[in-house]
Amino acid sequence: MRAREHLLVVGGGIAGLALAAALDPRRVRVTLVEERPERAGAGTVLALWRGGRDALDAIGVGDRVRARSLPVTGGALRRADGRAIHELRPAGHGAPRLWFAPRPNLVAALEAALPPAVTRLTELVTDPRALARQVGADLVVGADGVRSAVRQHAFEGAAPVVTDWIALRGHLPGPPVTTATEWWGRGALFGVTPGPRGAAWFAAVRGDHRGVEVDRDDAVALVRGHLADWDPRVGEVLTAVGDAADAQRVLLAPPLRTPVDEGLVLIGDAAHAMGPNLGRGANEALADAAVVADLIHRHGTKGAPRAFARRRHLRGQVLRAASLPALKVATSRLWSGARY
Ligand SMILES: Cc1cc2nc3c(=O)[nH]c(=O)nc-3n(C[C@H](O)[C@H](O)[C@H](O)COP(=O)(O)OP(=O)(O)OC[C@H]3O[C@@H](n4cnc5c(N)ncnc54)[C@H](O)[C@@H]3O)c2cc1C
Repeated sequence: MRAREHLLVVGGGIAGLALAAALDPRRVRVTLVEERPERAGAGTVLALWRGGRDALDAIGVGDRVRARSLPVTGGALRRADGRAIHELRPAGHGAPRLWFAPRPNLVAALEAALPPAVTRLTELVTDPRALARQVGADLVVGADGVRSAVRQHAFEGAAPVVTDWIALRGHLPGPPVTTATEWWGRGALFGVTPGPRGAAWFAAVRGDHRGVEVDRDDAVALVRGHLADWDPRVGEVLTAVGDAADAQRVLLAPPLRTPVDEGLVLIGDAAHAMGPNLGRGANEALADAAVVADLIHRHGTKGAPRAFARRRHLRGQVLRAASLPALKVATSRLWSGARY
């Protein structure tokens, strides 16, 4: 039997927690480093599609996450003026086969699944290889999101790509909403889904410059102005939420030939960040974690990175490549097809 190996996981978001939870502590020792554990459970909801759900089942938390997810009974994709492009019927008749998991619930489920033997450190990692030497790790996994310090340390010129899109999201307090609706219009999209405090809303809108930092009030004003003549239901939501929103510049991971370098692997948003409109970020992060855990169990920390590069890289790059164009398609006049 192989000697117990040691993995350093940088980032305790969805990908990092899922990986640490999926590994067998009898075979792999894990050190998990998160810069801001108190923030890891923030956020509204994450749509979980089949790949993400399968990964949660493999980790053993699928039932728990499902029990705490929000029901979806139908939905619609609409034009900016409110006319339906595509309607999803109630459960059992083509309702969306996805769960809406409040991000805090998903993080809590993954935290609860962590083996007690996982060593947890709270610090900002700037030199992952130095930290790996310090703790005696055989392999570093960069699960540190789109701004990944691990990626930028290992790959020259791998700073995140700054797009001219701004993503906003927030809670819409009120009675529970059980449908998911998305409006697609020129230069913007808007959505309302089930949310932990009634409903959740999100918007993506094209800004006029590419500075990384986004002023929340400016972003909310930009969305209000841009969507002023959209379906009145959109205006009602924006009036109800006031200026309470989280606003961020949409960043993407730069294309890499491979997410693997000597003694190091990237997973989740660190490897292949995606635009906000495909709802795939958490799903791909979970799938990456499940695949890496399986490969480490089978091939050890030496063989797993290459095997992972073969299994996941192409898919990650395809998704990334599809992401921004998909956002553009959704928000152009010439959109075609539906996302569901
Ligand atoms: C706080 C938060 C809230 C979010 N809310 C939503 C939401 O409501 N809806 C939605 O669709 N998506 C949301 N997302 C994004 C979504 O969860 C991710 O795109 C997706 O789950 C991919 O997960 P990931 O683990 O690869 O990256 P992330 O979830 O971004 O996790 C990366 C983790 O690494 C940590 N980290 C980063 N750099 C370092 C470093 N140098 N040293 C140590 N730790 C580091 C970060 O603090 C973070 O916890 C949110 C992400 C975060 C971090």
